[in-house]
Amino acid sequence: MTRSADSPLVPRLRPFGTTIFASMSALAARTGAINLGQGFPDTDGPVEVLEAAARAIRAGHNQYPPGRGIAPLREAIAEHQRRWYGLSYDPATQVLVTAGATEALTAAILALCDTGDEVVVLEPTYDSYTAAIALARAVPRPVRLRHPSATEPGYRLAEADLRAAITDRTRLLLINTPHNPTGHVLGPDELDAVARVAVEHDLVVITDEVYEHLLFGGRPYVPLTTLPGMAERTLQISSAGKTFSITGWKIGWVCSTPELVAAVTTAKQFLTYVNGAPFQWAVAEGLALPDERFAGLSRGMEAQHDVLLPGLVAAGMTVHPTEGTYFVTADVAPLGYDDAVDFCWRLPDLCGVVAVPSSVFYADPTGARSLVRFAFCKRPEILAEAAERLAGLRTR
Ligand code: PMP
Ligand code: GLN
Repeated sequence: MTRSADSPLVPRLRPFGTTIFASMSALAARTGAINLGQGFPDTDGPVEVLEAAARAIRAGHNQYPPGRGIAPLREAIAEHQRRWYGLSYDPATQVLVTAGATEALTAAILALCDTGDEVVVLEPTYDSYTAAIALARAVPRPVRLRHPSATEPGYRLAEADLRAAITDRTRLLLINTPHNPTGHVLGPDELDAVARVAVEHDLVVITDEVYEHLLFGGRPYVPLTTLPGMAERTLQISSAGKTFSITGWKIGWVCSTPELVAAVTTAKQFLTYVNGAPFQWAVAEGLALPDERFAGLSRGMEAQHDVLLPGLVAAGMTVHPTEGTYFVTADVAPLGYDDAVDFCWRLPDLCGVVAVPSSVFYADPTGARSLVRFAFCKRPEILAEAAERLAGLRTR
């Protein structure tokens, strides 16, 4: 292994530097701009969940929990999968609690991929996937979602594109829906296509479902795992962070077959071993909240989206419709900016707002250079102020 004189970092991790989310939050802190970059809410989640955590600390749940997570949380996760999706998991062998979805994803990739194995990912690609694949010495194979066009209003995963990415080294398909950063939710035809390809090539599939409860228009979420032939080959990964607006707690989970969960557990136990003992008790209570509370969380997020959107439109950006998540993508080319990275670094000066350039989520950003991601997981009054500031861009 060669190491350059200016950095002790191994070459395969050099492209990663500081995450775009951390960089943009630092820019917001430095400039005092409204932070619509990193996806974290500016209000706390359901009060019952917060109080349950305080209670758990006072009750003395402050030492290492069991390696796979406390039994009440594993039971609550299994019950949540049954209640929402009709899926049946044994909490003893088919559920693993992790340090957020991030650790679940990294542990799964480390457990299942060897040097040179290929992982098919949707592009734009969430940053931690590419880094985790590099940690495993595996190789990412991006499949670009087709962008919205005059004839097709939304993003779309085309089966032909997915098939073209499969080789005899393909080990994993890593699917994220609802998708960060586009807000695209895979529809029935796209899910069928993924299932067909996975079964045909006998692939393991990881589904990153951290936004499972943040779909708009009252649309129900359909996990890929529920399709024929998928339960035995899919690892469902999710997290309490986004659903309950508690991104700092880092309580995530994996549900799959006993064999796949055992494999991920082996890697996971040497990453963090365990985490968040009192928060595990609180998330167990959160997952048991009535359906209507979950629906209220997605309605609230949709209402926040509706506050920000007019600002982007009034600024003259081309807005790509979002179907869920915390995010919306806008093309700033109509404003005369062809480089989103440059635009985002200048945005605090231009109008006192921070956003994330979506171009960084592409291996080759050709055709995506002017796309910007705005987060709307903020209080309506903050979003209204941001919308007004952004609308002012047009007159500059
Ligand atoms: N996957 C996606 C698509 C995300 O947007 C995020 C950010 N929440 C994560 C994974 C990481 O989740 P966690 O904070 O639970 O590690
Ligand atoms: N998931 C969050 C986002 O997409 C960021 C999480 C992080 O900073 N790693 O903005």
